[in-house]
Amino acid sequence: MAKQREISKKEKDDIRTLVKFVEIYCRENHNAEKAPFSFRLFDIGEIEKKEVSLCPDCSRLLTYGLTMRLKCPHDPKPMCKKCDRQCYHGEYQSKIREVMKFSGMYMIKHGRVDMLYHYLR
Ligand SMILES: [Zn+2]
Repeated sequence: MAKQREISKKEKDDIRTLVKFVEIYCRENHNAEKAPFSFRLFDIGEIEKKEVSLCPDCSRLLTYGLTMRLKCPHDPKPMCKKCDRQCYHGEYQSKIREVMKFSGMYMIKHGRVDMLYHYLR
């Protein structure tokens, strides 16, 4: 049931946060060859204002995360860990947890608590 609609401000914020977390994680942990990330449902460049390069694994994870975020049936969206739906399964679930933990710590260390606050709210 792919319905055509504009992406809301809240969704854009969430997308930006998700992209940021995966980007930091990949940059700091992966040396595999990276390619510019693109997403078929909307133009990442419009949201991020710059190119985001990711390794193939992280591209897959981010694509999954963005797809799930846009499919979220809740409005307003609850915090994912408090949600009964649990979009992330198996491999993706452990991976996204690792990404959130790593990039969350990274942001604290680099004074980007504003991003973190946004994610946790
Ligand atoms: Zn990566």
